[in-house]
Amino acid sequence: MSEFRADLHCHSTCSDGTLTPAEIVRLAFSKGLSGLSITDHDTISAYAEAIPEAKKHNLPLITGVEFSAVQGETSIHLLAYSFPVNAPDITEFCQKHEKRRTDRNLGILEKLAKKGMVILPEELKITEHSHVIGRPHIAFALMKKGLVNSIQQAFQLYIGEGRSCYVPGDKVTVEETLDVIHRAKGLAIIAHPHLIDSPKVLKQLLELEFDGIEGYYGRFQPAQNERWVEIGLKRGWIITGGSDFHGEIKPNLPLGSSWVNEQTFTILQNHFENNTKMMDE
Ligand code: AMP
Ligand code: ZN
Ligand code: FE
Ligand code: FE
Repeated sequence: MSEFRADLHCHSTCSDGTLTPAEIVRLAFSKGLSGLSITDHDTISAYAEAIPEAKKHNLPLITGVEFSAVQGETSIHLLAYSFPVNAPDITEFCQKHEKRRTDRNLGILEKLAKKGMVILPEELKITEHSHVIGRPHIAFALMKKGLVNSIQQAFQLYIGEGRSCYVPGDKVTVEETLDVIHRAKGLAIIAHPHLIDSPKVLKQLLELEFDGIEGYYGRFQPAQNERWVEIGLKRGWIITGGSDFHGEIKPNLPLGSSWVNEQTFTILQNHFENNTKMMDE
């Protein structure tokens, strides 16, 4: 029997990925993955399509989302898992994020236009299915118009934090996000702690009521993951993992390149199934 691997972190066309939710499910199935969660940025709209597709292939799927937040001035990503798919707290919070993003994107486009780089909101899709729009979509549009050579260059020159066309947008705090996730009975996980530079911010996060930490992350070698796994285990947290697959827009992160084992996936799956039952009752 092949090894149990469940990838708990990937993005579909509902945010900044290039595969539709159904295509991700089919890819996970064809790669022989044993479980999956699709964690789009600030939206759970993937699940309308992903749930029936996963059932068709008998692929265990648990709900997930990657929320954007700030701790002080530092951008942080939080993963939420195993909430009921129709949890009102999560749905409302996603709507709030969508409004925040729309206003912020318009602010960024205005700054770019002032520099002579005119992009219309309707030009921001990465694929025809793109739904929740963020800076990667703006970077992609700049690249398509030949205004930058690469997505990285768009961030470096214009839209990266602190650059001339950067707009922070409304801020949502980590604490508010944690509260929403827990009200929806989801599990709250610190996403890719490897990418947090500030020791002060990290220390603050580790004192909050998280349920887990993403110890296994696609871009890092096992030795680099070890530190986060140890930190999580010491707190009795769930150690999650995933590839952060985005499709061809980030070709170096294949689906299944990071994963959790059966024991961890079962904890999340049981939590999800109990929640779903409670909502149905
Ligand atoms: P947003 O949520 O709209 O602020 O966009 C954040 C996303 O942009 C992150 O999740 C990354 O995928 C991507 N990103 C941030 N910084 C860079 C960078 N320097 N180069 C390429 N992608 C980046
Ligand atoms: Zn992304
Ligand atoms: Fe992230
Ligand atoms: Fe991600």
